[in-house]
Amino acid sequence: MLKKILIANRGEIACRIIRTAKKLGVATVAVYSDADARALHVEQADEAVHIGPSPATESYLKGDVIIAAAKATGAEGIHPGYGFLSENDDFADAVTKAGLKFIGPSAAAMRALGGKAAAKEIAIKAGVPVVPGYQGEKQDAKTLSVEAKKIGYPVMIKAVAGGGGRGMRLVEREADLAELLASAQREAASAFGNAHVLLEKVVERPRHIEVQVFGDAHGNVVHMFERDCTLQRRNQKVIEEAPAPGMSPALRENMCAAAVKLAKHVGYEGAGTVEFLVEGGSLGSDAKWYFIEMNTRLQVEHPVTEEITGLDLVEWQLRVASGEKLPLAQSAIKMSGHAIEVRLCAEDPAKGFLPSVGRIYAFDAPASLSGLRVETGVANDHSVSPFYDSMIAKLITVAPFRLEAADIMIEALHRTTIAGPVTNQCFLANLLEDEDIRKNRMDTGLIGRNLERLSMRPEYSEELAMGVGTFIEHLADNAEEGTLNRSTTFRKLWYARDGFQLGPPRTELRIVVINGERTEVSITWTEDGPRVSMPGDLPATARKSKCYSEHRPEAERLLVVMDGAQWEISLPTYDSSSIDDGAASDTIRAPINGRVARVFVTEGDVVEKGQRIAVVEAMKMEHVLTAPREGTIAKISVKEGTQVNQGTVLVALAEA
Ligand code: ADP
Ligand code: ADP
Ligand code: MG
Repeated sequence: MLKKILIANRGEIACRIIRTAKKLGVATVAVYSDADARALHVEQADEAVHIGPSPATESYLKGDVIIAAAKATGAEGIHPGYGFLSENDDFADAVTKAGLKFIGPSAAAMRALGGKAAAKEIAIKAGVPVVPGYQGEKQDAKTLSVEAKKIGYPVMIKAVAGGGGRGMRLVEREADLAELLASAQREAASAFGNAHVLLEKVVERPRHIEVQVFGDAHGNVVHMFERDCTLQRRNQKVIEEAPAPGMSPALRENMCAAAVKLAKHVGYEGAGTVEFLVEGGSLGSDAKWYFIEMNTRLQVEHPVTEEITGLDLVEWQLRVASGEKLPLAQSAIKMSGHAIEVRLCAEDPAKGFLPSVGRIYAFDAPASLSGLRVETGVANDHSVSPFYDSMIAKLITVAPFRLEAADIMIEALHRTTIAGPVTNQCFLANLLEDEDIRKNRMDTGLIGRNLERLSMRPEYSEELAMGVGTFIEHLADNAEEGTLNRSTTFRKLWYARDGFQLGPPRTELRIVVINGERTEVSITWTEDGPRVSMPGDLPATARKSKCYSEHRPEAERLLVVMDGAQWEISLPTYDSSSIDDGAASDTIRAPINGRVARVFVTEGDVVEKGQRIAVVEAMKMEHVLTAPREGTIAKISVKEGTQVNQGTVLVALAEA
């Protein structure tokens, strides 16, 4: 077994690899960029090496720097994870040349299968059906247009080096080909450094089914059944599951056999995934299916396979890389139950899935929920940086049956708290609640067709209102924090004028800004503190909301998180000139039951509007009372230390 490995990656996958390495007694070296100095993978590894500035091109994609780090720390092998350098055959070559083990397939196998065009040619040779199309060398517009016509519109343009759904274009009509071709080539050149494309027939209502394969250096290849990754948005996987729901045994057997044949054809070593599309939405024994590509690495969604087989794929990778034989023969690999994975991303479905970066005030997944597995690379108080992809965690559930696994996932999503960046939690829960998905009526276009409905999130609720109330209390609890601190804002916002009302104003309306929209809330003061309610429908639920606040000089920002949704509420900073503070008042009353902590004036004093008169203490908060207008202090009815009831007149004001 390798004694020490370097992990050339970050985030959840780096943490995942470290976990298995620890289990096997393999020492680990993490690498990190500037942005990741405090990241979880750095903390969890035995050693960590700084490899450069935050942009991936200056750190995680610097193969030479990473190899040097491995040499310097005495690592014997490099695990590339997924993304970054994982499918870069030149990097695999360089690792080998440096005398280190690349934990993955040989550079030759990657070259043969990594590119989509070459892989399709190999599949054809191996007798595996491929999507009809053109995957030749010629890239001029004329050739491609002739080939597209031969295939018949609509056609799919794909970057041969593409991944993650990028460099792909659906062309509906011949008239659009030139423009879409140019844009696919541009994207491919900038994203993958290779403008080469292929053309394919568009498969109608496809299901994305992929087979996990594993090979060793002794010529053995096995499969670990299939995964269903049909739920995609813009050709990117959103939810994955295993086994594929509705898979007929015959189709499973045929696809798994084809995947093994392909891997054997190139002497494949390590973990790989063979991807297929099945036409027509269902997985019956007579369905038409086609190979599309092979991913020559550990896949993001490998945990669903682990959950139904009970195997540790990273352990298998490390054993194979150490020269061992595959731990199990095909006949000993069994599956049971159903597993589902969701990719929890910092992105805002309401804003076209725009990535949402920034500090994570809270990250808390219900790890003890039975049937739930959490894979993450972030923790409380970390940040989602703009430099890498937006996936912050994966939740994986497993249960005997699909709908049970789905229901556990819905609960897990509801109970996961993420405050700060906006996430796709609600979107994922909506998917798992969708009738068509639950009844296994799906194809890769399902999300796209229902985007608006699936992006909806819960309305404001009573609980959210309670969250605002909790926030108010929170502000008050932090009364000692400085000059323009929470309590200052708080007092000004919520209390400053209370003392000047003629009667005790126990309920008042306030403007707050929720998710950028102004709305009115009504606040009622009770002996137990503020009760805040909002207009509209108030669906009360039993779950408790959580509040996180951030102080900015210009405003207070409150994040209320509940049921997997987050609301941002800002309380505009008090502006005394804009508040009707009851200029005609001539009494100053206690805003709340409490104790008079300070009296700043004596009878006969002439005071200006806004001058501090007294402080009433209650519920660990100080409520500063100020003069509603200029005048003379006619009578003071209390002393410091006096207990007063809400509404008690403290001071009477006469004309100056
Ligand atoms: P999978 O088939 O496992 O879903 P993807 O193709 O979606 O894999 O990519 C896996 C991960 O790697 C994603 O998080 C994606 O953002 C990232 N990734 C893909 N290509 C690159 C690349 N060229 N450089 C860096 N990261 C990449
Ligand atoms: P990537 O390297 O980005 O993962 P793939 O070739 O695996 O690219 O395709 C990604 C997804 O795009 C597929 O899962 C499928 O949803 C869609 N897709 C790819 N090729 C076709 C096709 N010929 N017809 C219809 N959909 C396709
Ligand atoms: Mg793919």
